[in-house]
Amino acid sequence: MGDLTKNFSAAEFDKPEPVPVEYRGNIPALADRCQWLRDLAGSIGEVTDTYRSAAHNAEIPNAAKSSQHMLAEASDVEFTLCPIRTLAERALASIADGDNPPFGQLIFYSVRGHVHVSVPNAALLGSRNGQVLHAYGIDGAGQDLFEPLIDPETQMPLLSTAQKKRGLGSHYLSSSHSSAPSGGAGNAAHAGGKAHGQK
Ligand SMILES: [Zn+2]
Repeated sequence: MGDLTKNFSAAEFDKPEPVPVEYRGNIPALADRCQWLRDLAGSIGEVTDTYRSAAHNAEIPNAAKSSQHMLAEASDVEFTLCPIRTLAERALASIADGDNPPFGQLIFYSVRGHVHVSVPNAALLGSRNGQVLHAYGIDGAGQDLFEPLIDPETQMPLLSTAQKKRGLGSHYLSSSHSSAPSGGAGNAAHAGGKAHGQK
């Protein structure tokens, strides 16, 4: 279905702004990272955010100033049908097995509901390149709070706040689901530590 990967097409990445010509070359690699997550989720994933111009990024209170979104090197994806914790567990297992494509940052937002994933960029990210984070909350100023993601079962709710609002909870929380056969959403985006978020 997709013109870049099995499920993703280039046009899906033109959000919230069209990817400028000079950055379009980043999209195939980014789509590969999204497809990796999509395969783990086993269900649809909607790219909600890829390229942001510097001007747009500056208007987002919680956006990282050096965000990879400004280079079209990161996407936020919502896997609406896959419990976010399940997706996180599968991603960590894939990484432990060495099955993952190299990435810059992988961030699970258990409130906002998306997964942020980026392509590697050691020059920009430094030691944060390759890190997996959990955005576990939002402080009073609207800033995301991050922690290293080590054990999703103890660190994360099964469903993101966004998934609960959509009603996914009534299905998963009432049926003692241990795995999610379908679903996928997530978006990824911010990184590292409270002082170093990368959205
Ligand atoms: Zn992001």
